[in-house]
Amino acid sequence: MSIKTGIMGGTFDPIHYGHLLLAEECRSRLNIDRIVFVPTGSPPHKRNRRVTSAEDRYAMTLLATAGVLNYSVSRTEVDRRQPSHTVDTLREFIAGGVAPEDLFFITGLDAILDIATWVDYKLLPKLCTLVTACRPGYPVEGIEALPQEVRENLKLVEIPQFAISSTEIRERARGGRSIRFLVPHLVEIYIESNGLYK
Ligand code: ATP
Ligand code: MG
Repeated sequence: MSIKTGIMGGTFDPIHYGHLLLAEECRSRLNIDRIVFVPTGSPPHKRNRRVTSAEDRYAMTLLATAGVLNYSVSRTEVDRRQPSHTVDTLREFIAGGVAPEDLFFITGLDAILDIATWVDYKLLPKLCTLVTACRPGYPVEGIEALPQEVRENLKLVEIPQFAISSTEIRERARGGRSIRFLVPHLVEIYIESNGLYK
């Protein structure tokens, strides 16, 4: 019997409490045993802006999850030389012994709505269960338009709305505004002491 593994992919530039809340709600609602954060190496969807180095994003993800029971961070996409593709990451976890029925890929709704642009997206429902979050009381617009194989495989978890994004945090940091309580304390310190987003 393999343990239920939830993969939380993202650019994490920087990681914030919206990411952590999404992962935690999915973990507890679906009885997932462990959450693995997988920061992207070179994100295929974000070539239009300069992304912070993979090592800095990996370090911040480590700082955000250090000491959190059943949470860990994987270097797999950071160390990959090619652009990061979810399908490759899922295959690696399966090769490592996680059965597809015990593998969950967690994304926000905005990300899943782009899924038809991901490499080999039709394979994803065969490799894992796709999990996405909706906000309480909000219509899940766009879900009906997803490809059928994705829609049939998708699990929706309701999470409290926390309307923060990495974009907003970078803008705040650039403008010298507070990011306290939007990111874990150690991430805030890391951003400040390394002069990120200035
Ligand atoms: P950016 O503003 O640079 O796009 P982001 O905040 O969207 O950053 P990503 O690293 O792009 O962060 O997102 C990783 C995953 O986390 C995506 O699936 C995204 O939908 C989800 N996510 C991001 N912010 C939130 C939030 N506040 N609540 C729930 N899910 C979120
Ligand atoms: Mg985003």
